[in-house]
Amino acid sequence: MARGGRRRVTILGATGSIGRSTLDVLRAMGGREAFEVVALTGMSNIPALAAAAREFGAQLAVTADPARLDELRRALAGSGVRAAAGPEAVIEAAALPADWCMAAILGAAGLAPTLAALRASATVALANKECLVSAGDLFLAAQQAAGAALLPVDSEHNAIFQAMAGARAAQGVERVILTASGGPFRDWPRARMAAVTPEQAVAHPNWDMGAKISIDSASMFNKALEMIEARHLFALRPEQIEVLVHPQSIVHSMVGYRDGSILAQLGPPDMRVAIGYALGWPERPALPVERLDFAQLSRLDFAPPDEARFPALRLAREAMRAGGLAGATLLAAKEAALDAFIARRIGFLDMAAVVEETMSRLAPFAPATHLDEVFAADAEARRAAARIIDARAA
Ligand code: NAD
Ligand code: MG
Repeated sequence: MARGGRRRVTILGATGSIGRSTLDVLRAMGGREAFEVVALTGMSNIPALAAAAREFGAQLAVTADPARLDELRRALAGSGVRAAAGPEAVIEAAALPADWCMAAILGAAGLAPTLAALRASATVALANKECLVSAGDLFLAAQQAAGAALLPVDSEHNAIFQAMAGARAAQGVERVILTASGGPFRDWPRARMAAVTPEQAVAHPNWDMGAKISIDSASMFNKALEMIEARHLFALRPEQIEVLVHPQSIVHSMVGYRDGSILAQLGPPDMRVAIGYALGWPERPALPVERLDFAQLSRLDFAPPDEARFPALRLAREAMRAGGLAGATLLAAKEAALDAFIARRIGFLDMAAVVEETMSRLAPFAPATHLDEVFAADAEARRAAARIIDARAA
């Protein structure tokens, strides 16, 4: 139970983009009056971590970097906030009982802490994509065993969750339609895409994001990961998951029902809406975000994605059909290919080719029953992808 009526909240990855937006939503929803912050975690930005921990009077602040414990202690001196450091300390923070936990650590480092949070928190708001992509069955089994609520924060999945509006309506779901901005190369011919530079791929038209996620958006690998996430979150068959290019990023996704109805969630491209919905659920909080003005928007465009130019979508469907560790393999091969593209060792379109070749070499895929198996599959896929990249770059 929350002491004094305040909800106990933990933020894993409090210093990142999602973490900072989550702190903002906590402020908008009453700040320290309404929330008791159990733990905040970060990595290298100690001033930001310490400032947030002081502002909210957190019980514990953790940096994942063991070399920064002294710096964190100094930054927290006199505040009464406990300091800890290292990956194990992040997992221990996630394992502290809380009413609500935001899982927003980037990448594979988020897996073990998010699993711990599912066992310790009543509700986990999930931003980290890697958990469900690389080990969806394992995470959902842990969630069911713990009886925790798992609420999606990725904007598309949050939109679908909103449009499903409860378990009874979900029974009549025929399909979900994930919208995609299409990225900066939406309308480019394939030959021109082959020559794209990392700088061109980083420019993202609608959302302000980090470099890697911007490139994943341009290649539509981000949407590929989101297809796999959706499959696990909403227990869908691969053929029930469609992708639609929607350059304005106003319709965040849609759900099609068996009576022909479509329910969509629309809103400003601001992650605080999804975070606020996950924090207020089942109620809607008041949020200081931009209001849509349809007269100004004037039009919303939709087009089917071209899978010849964006093979990531087809690869996601293949990974969903294969099941087990196919998602972990796709994700790890994608990471290796993305690093090679950023290092200018392979071209933009080679990224999908590397993923496809890695997956066909490593198939068939065993089920994942433990995180160690996920990490082993990740390492094996990165090794296989590295060899394929070397052969292509030579
Ligand atoms: P970010 O890079 O801005 O922040 C990542 C957070 O993780 C930081 O707090 C950082 O300190 C922490 N972190 C990084 N490496 C770590 C490690 N090894 N151990 C422990 N902590 C570590 O990322 P973000 O944009 O906030 O995204 C977080 C997650 O949410 C990602 O999985 C991303 O795919 C997903 N997501 C983000 C957005 C978005 O709009 N930013 C949208 C949808 C989904
Ligand atoms: Mg998204």
